[in-house]
Amino acid sequence: MILLHCATGNAGKLGEFRLAARAFSAGPPVAIELLPGFQELPPCVETGATFEENAAIKARHYGRYAPGLLFADDSGLEVDALAGAPGVYSARFSGPQATAESNNRLLLEKLRGVRNRAAHFVCALALVEGARTLGVWRGTVEGVILDEPRGTGGFGYDPLFYCPALGCTFGEAGEEQKLSVSHRGRAMREMLAALAADT
Ligand code: IMP
Repeated sequence: MILLHCATGNAGKLGEFRLAARAFSAGPPVAIELLPGFQELPPCVETGATFEENAAIKARHYGRYAPGLLFADDSGLEVDALAGAPGVYSARFSGPQATAESNNRLLLEKLRGVRNRAAHFVCALALVEGARTLGVWRGTVEGVILDEPRGTGGFGYDPLFYCPALGCTFGEAGEEQKLSVSHRGRAMREMLAALAADT
């Protein structure tokens, strides 16, 4: 059994990491636990310009508080017609008090009348052991931003993100269905394969 601590305050992400660990582990079983005391630790300032940089910054910041392996993720939505926005600012697109609803509302406003709806999600995962960075993995998934939300599953921008590979939005997809094609599922598969190759 490999124990991986995870640094995230997002319950939706944690659920997907755990599901991926069960579904994709290519070697010994992998257990994913939230880093003990995560909410009380000094917050990490995400100063990176890319998802990879931010994932590595977060993993190194929280890695000092973990007894062994720890990973962190940075992810978001890049919309072609908005020159890649909201990108690394996806969580706070509509301001410091942003919620998924206010972010989705702002995204729809910015895309009103825009014909090019192409977008993709990106997920970068960084794995550390203490101060040592063991690797950074990236996953992406292509989709289209709809005119109105569909479905109540998932989190964040999921109800607006239509995934042609699934024929529905991520908000309408089941958890396992989403993970089979998603940016997070793909990055997790890569990280778990690297871990299995190393054990
Ligand atoms: P961060 O990685 O914690 O900085 O935040 C990523 C933000 O990107 C989330 O708060 C969501 O708004 C968005 N996001 C990332 N992954 C997903 C996803 O799988 N579905 C929907 N929204 C996502």
